[in-house]
Amino acid sequence: MDFEKAKERIGFLRNELNRHNYLYYVKATPEVSDYDYDILLRELMELEREFPELDDPNSPTRRVGSDITRDFEQVRHTYPMLSLANVYSKAELIEFDNRVKKVISEPVEYVCELKFDGVAINLTYRNGTLQQAVTRGDGTIGDDVTANARTIRSIPLVLHGEGYPDEFEIRGEIFMPRQVFDDLNREREEVGEVPFANPRNAAAGTLKLLNSAEVARRKLDCTLYFLLGENIPSDSHYSNLEVARRWGFKVSDYMTLCKDIAEVQQYIDHWEKARKKLPFDTDGVVIKVNSLRQQQILGLTAKTPRWAVAYKYKPERVSTELLSIDFQVGRTGAVTPVANLRSVKLSGTTVKRASLHNADQIQLLDIHIGDWVFVEKGGEIIPKIVGVDQSKRSLFVQPAIFPENCPECGTPLVRPVGEARYLCPNQYGCPPQIKGRIEHFISRKALNIDGLGEETVALLYDSGLIHNAADLYSIKKEQLLKLERFAEKSADNAISSIERSKKVTFPRVLFGLGIRYVGETTAKKIAQHFRSIDAIAQAAVEQLMEVEDVGESVAQSIRDYFADERNTQLINRLRQAGLQLELQQDEGALLSEKLKDMSIVISGTFSRISREELKELIARHGGKNVSAISASTSLLVAGDNMGPAKLEKATKLGIKIVNEDEFFSMIE
Ligand code: NAD
Repeated sequence: MDFEKAKERIGFLRNELNRHNYLYYVKATPEVSDYDYDILLRELMELEREFPELDDPNSPTRRVGSDITRDFEQVRHTYPMLSLANVYSKAELIEFDNRVKKVISEPVEYVCELKFDGVAINLTYRNGTLQQAVTRGDGTIGDDVTANARTIRSIPLVLHGEGYPDEFEIRGEIFMPRQVFDDLNREREEVGEVPFANPRNAAAGTLKLLNSAEVARRKLDCTLYFLLGENIPSDSHYSNLEVARRWGFKVSDYMTLCKDIAEVQQYIDHWEKARKKLPFDTDGVVIKVNSLRQQQILGLTAKTPRWAVAYKYKPERVSTELLSIDFQVGRTGAVTPVANLRSVKLSGTTVKRASLHNADQIQLLDIHIGDWVFVEKGGEIIPKIVGVDQSKRSLFVQPAIFPENCPECGTPLVRPVGEARYLCPNQYGCPPQIKGRIEHFISRKALNIDGLGEETVALLYDSGLIHNAADLYSIKKEQLLKLERFAEKSADNAISSIERSKKVTFPRVLFGLGIRYVGETTAKKIAQHFRSIDAIAQAAVEQLMEVEDVGESVAQSIRDYFADERNTQLINRLRQAGLQLELQQDEGALLSEKLKDMSIVISGTFSRISREELKELIARHGGKNVSAISASTSLLVAGDNMGPAKLEKATKLGIKIVNEDEFFSMIE
């Protein structure tokens, strides 16, 4: 590959992988299988190796995929929480062993553990009681989910036995047992909610719920696999876990100490089959150097430790009958084929649906309805069809045909040049696209209308109450009460959150319009540059391109948006409803210098103001918002439910602590 081609491909892969990381870690709704993700990541690694001049410290090959959501408080990890390097074959495992032995000349023992498929968690204990539970986040800073973790029965709140250090950390995996997952999904389907793709996503989604009572109801489990801190009992990772078991932690019964790599291989071979009988999902085996001293000598890269590796099993494959294909229309109009299958057991779950990706894939695999197809699943979301069993093809099968018209609205589909997907161009008349835009409009980072959700939007649309975002502002409480989903309280909630959204600042309204390519940051920059929607509507492509980060395609997309009368009408109605369509006189400008040179940490929840608004206030009074407490922190603004660890740290460092009211009097 020549340099220019490689540069283009690397750019594409980095963008794709970042997008998948966001979907996987933050939204817990991945679009591709782990296996497909890993293939893209490998390709990027190889290209970066071949073209070192194109290296970038921000590349997804160099960073831990981040799960930070900002709904929670962020906490800095004392020790980085990294990912694991993957190996897929025995040969790669031997290479790992050789790399270890190159550095460590004495004998090396390995500990083999099952790789639980859930979400990593770091627990801090002080004087035998649980202080804090923090997610991996971006490896350096994670989300504080202590309140939710406390509801998990296998996480001890108070330790048993004796001999534990005054302070230590223990890491493990929060996961959802398969039975719990099946029950939860059955329940969700019954009430018309979207089922979770797999137990991992269900665990990740559950741990990030804002309602701890609901977390408790979902029965998560937690297994612990690494003890760390200053005064831990032994140099042996294995012995430390055995001791931790006696303190009350749930440590896996399936870990084994191996004296060499041959024993590691036996463990891998055994569990390849045996793991399918376990009541929870695993996606491989983790192999760790046992001695902590040796681990330290081997050290870390920015993304993974050099003393451990994950062996990933190949995805399992079964064959079953293809009954029919549904063609689903997404928010952007893209049409995706999904196969309905005769149900079949695959990696411990029952599979009824599988992805077919796109029209090319259907053609490439020469798929016929009634065919026996091979289905694969690699610890992921919806399994995929990877081939047809030609030997079983009957005479009566019919070729699968990609529709020419949108299955939702009948509009002829179009295929953009150079793309594999078909799109329904009927943006303003095709129901799933309309609903998708309204969902985006009400989402947290846009108008934040939290009294409504995806299903409510569908209900309001289907019952004819809304056709676009502006219609939300004419809904009456009596109309809601007539709908099945609403009672007095939920209707009040919906109406007041719609009302509140009229105060949402202009940049977020602009983002909420869902103009193609105009993400949150771009919306902010454009709003600050032009200051009003009218100025943006009148700006020419060249003027739009004067804004930082706005290239030709973004500028053109904005022009196209305002050239469409339906959009200008929508905006006029939003204006009549009283939404913020321009920056306030002093918005973004400094209000005072009362907090000048101050590094301020905020913690907990606040009654008069949201965390986001508080951060903005700090900035507008000249202060700097920082996420973790350190000796250089000037002030801690403490809300309700603040973590005890933060409070203690701030007190120890003598940092000034104020409550919400005191903060307001500081800036008045
Ligand atoms: P990883 O899941 O490959 O490995 C690290 C994680 O393993 C740890 O953070 C921990 O949570 C877990 N783990 C389970 N058992 C363990 C044990 N006994 N000891 C130590 N750790 C244990 O790494 P990752 O960075 O979280 O994720 C990368 C993987 O996620 C990739 O392999 C990829 O397939 C998948 N992924 C998929 C998508 C997608 O869109 N499908 C997107 C991003 C990542």
